[in-house]
Amino acid sequence: MLSYLRAELKGLLDLVLPPSCPLCGGVLKVGPATAFCPDCLDDFPFLKHSRCPRCALPYPLASGSDHLCEACLREKPPFERVECLGLYDGGLREAIRRFKFHGAVHLDRAFARLLATRLEYFRRSYRPEVLVAVPLHRQRLRSRTYNQSLLLARELGRFWRLPAPARLLRRIRPGLQQQGLTGEQRRRNLKGAFALHGKLDGERVLLVDDVLTTGATARECSSALLAGGASRVAVAVLARARLEKLQ
Ligand SMILES: [Zn+2]
Ligand SMILES: [Zn+2]
Repeated sequence: MLSYLRAELKGLLDLVLPPSCPLCGGVLKVGPATAFCPDCLDDFPFLKHSRCPRCALPYPLASGSDHLCEACLREKPPFERVECLGLYDGGLREAIRRFKFHGAVHLDRAFARLLATRLEYFRRSYRPEVLVAVPLHRQRLRSRTYNQSLLLARELGRFWRLPAPARLLRRIRPGLQQQGLTGEQRRRNLKGAFALHGKLDGERVLLVDDVLTTGATARECSSALLAGGASRVAVAVLARARLEKLQ
């Protein structure tokens, strides 16, 4: 009854105040799949390139075929695949930076809506049972005040009616800032940084994060989840960074 009333109220509100784009404030066309306005979506570089089927690393040539990248060939990742909205570039990069560093927490729903729509085919084939956000160490969380990946996982969980427990996976070692480290340094920095609090019982897990860069964080989290009882782990991120974008 309550949800019916809420939906009715929302419909009335939409008539008086048409929903606006959470990025630019422009008018949104009312529809279940609308998250951002067409102008903002035009600035999102959706992934059209050929890519690594495992970690979604995009290759420079859009016309090439998909094949495993060097890093995945050298050491098979513990996760099965990475799903993403697009490249960490252009308007998507800008929007993620606002979401992550500038307190634009209200973007969580629009991002989750877009992710849920774009990943629907994947969801049906993989059938995740639990969503797990990449955690922040508590010191980091104190200074940042929120974990954007957890906000995203929770909203995605609302769309897909899946649990997104906040404390299952924990970051137990703070480590250095990943930014500015090479791939190898990132891996060393993260060794043993994550642990499971509690146990999983054969669930298919979807690990959720904002950006995947080298994949070092996703590897460590996936290993911890598998060691803690997950049967399978796949990864969903908003954006995939090209390696030359590493800084
Ligand atoms: Zn917009
Ligand atoms: Zn790869």
